[in-house]
Amino acid sequence: MDKKMEAAFNDQINKEYYSAYLYLAMKTAFAEMNLPGFVNWFDIQVQEEKAHAVGMYDYVLERGGHVELGAIDKPELNGKTPVEIFKQVLEHEKFVTSRINAVYDVAEELKDRAAMLFLNWYIKEQVEEEASASDVLAKVEMIGDNTHALLDLDKELAARVFNPPIIK
Ligand code: MG
Repeated sequence: MDKKMEAAFNDQINKEYYSAYLYLAMKTAFAEMNLPGFVNWFDIQVQEEKAHAVGMYDYVLERGGHVELGAIDKPELNGKTPVEIFKQVLEHEKFVTSRINAVYDVAEELKDRAAMLFLNWYIKEQVEEEASASDVLAKVEMIGDNTHALLDLDKELAARVFNPPIIK
């Protein structure tokens, strides 16, 4: 595996683990608000992000590359309210999309077709990640200070289930 490609994947593995860590911090915030449905939603986000990291980890090893694990940054929340937190989720997912695109740029530059094909899954996944963050953000914005509506949404989010992604 080209060293530049390997470095790009290693950086993204770290970003995916950081995402898991950030969502774990957000899960804590909702646990403290006594909103178990939101806690469930973030718990699934955490599991998905770990799966994204492991997908790339496995790919690097499969291609004979070296995985170099770096330190994971401390997650910082921009706010405490559901609206502030979901604004940050959407902003973060847009950032992750830009980073996945940057990894793809390296693959394209190196004419690494296998890496490009592999990254297609992540590019499509980011469309879903941004859509699901936007969806919850729109709902919490509509809810505002309506506690009943917030509890209804909490029930809705409690129904979300984790389907382990098949990254191929
Ligand atoms: Mg991810």
